[in-house]
Amino acid sequence: RQVVESLLTRSLEPRQAVYGRFLDDDEVVDDGLAILFPEGQSFTGEEVVEMQVHGSPVVLQHLLDLCCSHGARIARPGEFSERAFLNDRLDLAQAEAIADLISSGSRTAARAARRSLQGEFSREVEAIAGRLEHLRVLVEACIDFPEEDIDPLHIEELETGLEWLDEAIGNLLTKAGQGMLINQGANIALIGAPNAGKSSLLNRLTGKETAIVTDIPGTTRDLLKADLVLDGVPIRVLDTAGLRVTDDTVEQIGVERATEAAQQADLVLIVLDGEMLEGPSAVAAEARRIGSLAEIDAPTIEILNKVDLYRGEEAAAVSTCALDGSGLDTLKALILKTLGRDEREVPFTARARHQEALSCAHEVLRDSQRTLAAGAGLELVADELSVAHRHLGEITGTVTPDDLLGRIFSEFCIGK
Ligand code: GDP
Repeated sequence: RQVVESLLTRSLEPRQAVYGRFLDDDEVVDDGLAILFPEGQSFTGEEVVEMQVHGSPVVLQHLLDLCCSHGARIARPGEFSERAFLNDRLDLAQAEAIADLISSGSRTAARAARRSLQGEFSREVEAIAGRLEHLRVLVEACIDFPEEDIDPLHIEELETGLEWLDEAIGNLLTKAGQGMLINQGANIALIGAPNAGKSSLLNRLTGKETAIVTDIPGTTRDLLKADLVLDGVPIRVLDTAGLRVTDDTVEQIGVERATEAAQQADLVLIVLDGEMLEGPSAVAAEARRIGSLAEIDAPTIEILNKVDLYRGEEAAAVSTCALDGSGLDTLKALILKTLGRDEREVPFTARARHQEALSCAHEVLRDSQRTLAAGAGLELVADELSVAHRHLGEITGTVTPDDLLGRIFSEFCIGK
């Protein structure tokens, strides 16, 4: 407030857009609006002033320099969200949803991020953490008694509670998996022999002329990237140089990059040339050969392209004709299925960090089910429940290991 009032020709009014001129000594830098958000009534919870001026980068920089010379400093990436979190305006999963909303690659992803921001994911985590807390109290109370005095009904309640938690976390993990898929998207690599129709399929998938299609084998020498959205999942498809042993140096580099792309992809589409292959055993042998050239770890889908020129019985997971687009819908559905997208509306976005914390909690609670069944002592169960509780707390930020906040907010963009 002091900084802006020392520049502005007008004084600020809480929650009002004040029109005035911003001055650098006698020079008018620009005219525009300033809005004062009093403490407790801003996004961060702190007193904030927003300035609105003409969008020239030169004017903006001048104004920023001026503010800094009056004692302000530039915010770190994600600092506004971090302050909002530290001031209890939102929890950690909600803060992360802001970054997810900004970078969302589809309307489905944006919708899901909004729901996370509104706290839908956090509420589910908290419901589970609440039940867990209740069980911890129960166990702690039982520990104080000698074993023969423990009410069997309490043990039964503990068992039922643990079963409930196991199922609830399992369900939440499924939803989080969907949230992660639409949030982070997937990389798909197209590999196959030269001229099999990889570029034509890429064009069909994206509905655009992304790749150059020719009938000269070896045209796609470098990687071509194209982005598309399938049922809300942002997908990056890499069309690679045809895989064949070659003396051409440029093509050789392309082949190496294709191999690399296939190794890094979440899913690899092996495109087989229906014109060149006769019968299922030839198709299967070619798929094996291509697969072994690229050493793939990711799941694969074998596509028999040029099915219009193919002579033989049905031979691969999906048959396509890139010229008329037949088989493309089946291919898209198969891609989504292999990536793990189910057909339900995605309830919220999630991140790998959340999934990991949920999995750890799940694992530890399963241990405590086993501990209890083996009659190994309630102290051990109490320890396990406390560890699981801590894992859940990491999601919403009630428990934050030292470096976690730094890592999360440094990935935000400046000004958020
Ligand atoms: P790439 O080298 O694997 O990328 O193959 P291209 O997409 O460049 O295709 C090579 C040639 O095959 C082009 O002339 C395409 O028009 C043709 N082609 C691609 N797909 C089909 C198909 O399904 N049927 C037929 N008949 N021709 C195709």
